[in-house]
Amino acid sequence: MKAANNNDKCPICNQAATEKYHPFCSSRCSEIDLGRWFNGSYKIAGEKTSLGQSEEDEFDQ
Ligand SMILES: [Zn+2]
Repeated sequence: MKAANNNDKCPICNQAATEKYHPFCSSRCSEIDLGRWFNGSYKIAGEKTSLGQSEEDEFDQ
């Protein structure tokens, strides 16, 4: 069997992309690319952080 998407290469490490993480080769490279993209638009999510939610829960009571 030959992979139909033989031409697709991971833009991060240039290895063959997998179907699961297309167009990347692995979840790791996918996350790296996402991180790059996210850094460029970080200001959009800059105002709210969901990390502080547990503190707000205490306030509810
Ligand atoms: Zn890769």
